[in-house]
Amino acid sequence: MEIYKGASAFAGIAIGKIRFYRKGEYQIRQHQADDVKKELKNFDVARRHVMQTLKEEYDRMSEKQMDTADPELDMEPQPLDRIVKVNGENGTNQILEQAELLGSGSFLRAVQSMITGEKVTAAYAVQTTRDEMQSTFSRLNDPTIKERIHNVSRISSLLLEILGEDENKIDLGEEPVILAADALSLAELMEMDKEKLLGIVTRKGSATSHAAILAKNMDIPCVTGIGIPQSEEEWEDSIAIIDGYTGTIYLEPDNEVRKEYEIRRKADLVERESLLKLKDKGDITKDGREVGIYANIGSLDDLNSALYYGAKGIGLLRSEFQYLGRENYPGEEELFQAYKKTAETMGDRLVVIRTADLGADKQASYLEIPVETNPLMGNRGIRLSLDRKNLFKTQIRAIYRASWYGNLGMMYPMICSEEEMDEVEALVMEVKEELKAAGVPFKEIRTGIMMETPAAVMIGEELAKRVDFLGIGTNDLTQYTLAMDRQNPLLQKKYDDHHPAILKMIKMIVDAGHAQNCKVCLCGELAADTRLTETFLQMGVDALSVVPACILPVRKALRAVCIAEM
Ligand code: PEP
Ligand code: MG
Repeated sequence: MEIYKGASAFAGIAIGKIRFYRKGEYQIRQHQADDVKKELKNFDVARRHVMQTLKEEYDRMSEKQMDTADPELDMEPQPLDRIVKVNGENGTNQILEQAELLGSGSFLRAVQSMITGEKVTAAYAVQTTRDEMQSTFSRLNDPTIKERIHNVSRISSLLLEILGEDENKIDLGEEPVILAADALSLAELMEMDKEKLLGIVTRKGSATSHAAILAKNMDIPCVTGIGIPQSEEEWEDSIAIIDGYTGTIYLEPDNEVRKEYEIRRKADLVERESLLKLKDKGDITKDGREVGIYANIGSLDDLNSALYYGAKGIGLLRSEFQYLGRENYPGEEELFQAYKKTAETMGDRLVVIRTADLGADKQASYLEIPVETNPLMGNRGIRLSLDRKNLFKTQIRAIYRASWYGNLGMMYPMICSEEEMDEVEALVMEVKEELKAAGVPFKEIRTGIMMETPAAVMIGEELAKRVDFLGIGTNDLTQYTLAMDRQNPLLQKKYDDHHPAILKMIKMIVDAGHAQNCKVCLCGELAADTRLTETFLQMGVDALSVVPACILPVRKALRAVCIAEM
């Protein structure tokens, strides 16, 4: 038996076989082609169709630009010699470049050689080639390169419309397993079947990294910062025990230890079972003060567990999850349908949608976020949304349209200044005017600000004047206050979210909010830390928002507190 110590990211006990997840290799295995010749042919057929589309587009645009020229964009690999370039007209030049990439250029060669060399499907080769080219080019800050990224992405989308996107689900096999990995990204975890996951062990990451937060949402024990040996094969198929309470892994446990943990696991289940009697009980302290417990969720899948555990509402819907693990932006209709369904499912209960907090560790290749030296301090959250007004307005419009169907609220992430709020308010106003003009019904909804930067804390009252509620994001607030990356496993022991500076800031936010009649909800991971429930209530926090699986333990702690006695 070997014992490894790491950090607990989520409690619980799991016993099972280990499967080691290796990024690239896993995906290639999944997208293996049975017949390479057929894949090359499929690619060629798709390529010819796309060439035809480009030719038609080119003809249409050229007709508009000049009366006489009728350039021929042939379907064969050499057609470009015969195309007459229309002087500097941007649209037509772009089409020519797209045709060139497909006709004889680097993109074509890369896809073909990937299909033959790695024996993968045409769709997978297109997706991977596009991602690789984008990530190589995005490091360069040059307008022609940006154009090239756009062109690669355009032809890939056209090709994938014909080839179909390869199903991205990561297959974990028949039996549920304990997943071990170097690191897991949010997108990868989202592609896995929750039913097949007994637990998660990673070398990198931390309790407040977003992949760990997703594991919590899935209610799966998770331990990070484990010194998995470099020869990972040693772990593959071994039996392991994860003790998510203490952050310990037992590899090939002795009989004694295994027996002991079988008993503990049963006791754990009994304890969870006994907590279930609190499902329908109120969030009321011993002396009768109500402090609502809400749920943090990442997707519609979590709504059932939020309702099951009796959440008062959704205190934080991490809306950016809907933008991850996919090939293109979700459109307004898709967003609207998801928000409408959430609003309808929760009925009268409040649902707070946090607008997309993209950037930093929440990346998708189609977002084309240039590589940053320091992404956590980079163009993320509200900064990115204000930079990409279309993206932001589309989301706000979808939220307002869905407001008609329930009790929605909207909250803005990573706010640092009043100027950002000026811009946000102007956009919200624009959206509302547009909806009114189009006769689309919507309700006036409550708005809130995430307090997760020290700057926001210092101007707490000014910010509170502008909204109806404040949400305290202790994960980022701790990271930015202590200047410690929340995902760095080496800092796990030092990343102290009980630090007096953090507790003092929480109190400052509560006071600033209350001075301006704002309700204050704590929604970072710290909200689920029952060692502090009493302290938060004493500070005057109005609500706590936690992952669904933590609602009952927090309710238990809350119901044991008597504020009057404190
Ligand atoms: C936080 O920072 O505490 C928070 C709730 O937001 P996220 O964890 O998604 O960054
Ligand atoms: Mg945050």
